[in-house]
Amino acid sequence: MKLAVPAETVPGESRCAVSAEAVKAYVKKGLKVAVQAGAGAGSNISDADYKAAGAEIGKGPDVVADADIVLSVRRPSTAVLKSMKKGAILAAGLEPYGERKGLEAIAKSGATAFAMELMPRITRAQSMDILSSQANLAGYKAVIDASAHFGRALPMMMTAAGTVPAAKVFIMGVGVAGLQAIATARRLGAIVSATDVRKATEEQVKSLGAKFVYVAVADAATAGGYARELSDEDKRKQAALIAEHVKSQDIIITTALIPGRPAPILLTEAMVETMKPGSVIVDLAVERGGNTPLSKPDQVVTHRGVTIIGTVNLAGKLAGNASALYAKNLANFLELLIAKDGTLKIDWKDEILAGTLIAKDGALVHPMFAAEKE
Ligand code: NAD
Repeated sequence: MKLAVPAETVPGESRCAVSAEAVKAYVKKGLKVAVQAGAGAGSNISDADYKAAGAEIGKGPDVVADADIVLSVRRPSTAVLKSMKKGAILAAGLEPYGERKGLEAIAKSGATAFAMELMPRITRAQSMDILSSQANLAGYKAVIDASAHFGRALPMMMTAAGTVPAAKVFIMGVGVAGLQAIATARRLGAIVSATDVRKATEEQVKSLGAKFVYVAVADAATAGGYARELSDEDKRKQAALIAEHVKSQDIIITTALIPGRPAPILLTEAMVETMKPGSVIVDLAVERGGNTPLSKPDQVVTHRGVTIIGTVNLAGKLAGNASALYAKNLANFLELLIAKDGTLKIDWKDEILAGTLIAKDGALVHPMFAAEKE
């Protein structure tokens, strides 16, 4: 059986769906592995590294031509989709909520496609969850980038020349990225506070030594562990509390997302204008519209002295780590598809496979996405 990894083609995508370690593990399982030349360059994995791990290096996107399994970080290019064998397995970040035409093109290619973003939030699936592994790195990097743009120190320092005050960091949205952002800001010595619409996060925030800022809204946690959108009344209550808190903050990291919906606006222009000049905002939700209307994808903008960072693929800025974790997520996922003898053995009823399978036999089959078909 053959597994192939094409080079990513989305501009700025530095990650790769396979690491040299993952290649070694696949080869050990008896799989043939082919990687497109240069696929690991953005993560500092050379073709020679892949070769040494046991992969063959293919020149172009047709590296996938005779593969039974194709792995990628983003949606594969049209060239890759054209080259793929009908019925080949595709496991990737397929952006199920993204542009519909591209999703249909994936289905039409005949691939048996798994959208890794749809991973169910169950304990067994944790090691396969690309959103978690990447959000964790993004949360860390958001604080590092914010501190690099902040013209002052984060920890309190008592010196002979006077005391440097600790910076105040506020984290909005306490999912995986938010928790890592809290931990990182705490390690750097900042005074950290955080907010979320899921009441369950209060304990997590406090256990990391941060203050919880919570407005009593109807708990927005869903059974799947994600948040739902707030009612208009609750949105108003939340905005009033946040507006007061924001005024005194030096750095704000926003991470609030709602699956399948535009990101909620948490920081209005008026709120940002109450912040001190020199303050910094990092908007991790920028790709989904942003938690502030002022953030711009892949730009650093300044609004009345406040710097707003809108890096889209923050995890990709730590490409070496991001690729290693992503590759491991996919390798763990493939454990469900590959039997001990190295052949495909698929239990279509498995909750994880049923939850992530988006296209099969030329059509979109996932209940949440097939319905949109014209
Ligand atoms: P996410 O990326 O979907 O959203 C980030 C955070 O924003 C969430 O905490 C959400 O509640 C919050 N948010 C949404 N709307 C908001 C608003 N209006 N104001 C403030 N905050 C708002 O979340 P995530 O990182 O994917 O994590 C969600 C939960 O799922 C977490 O509890 C996480 O631990 C859990 N999780 C479980 C598994 C698993 O069991 N396999 C895997 C990953 C995450």
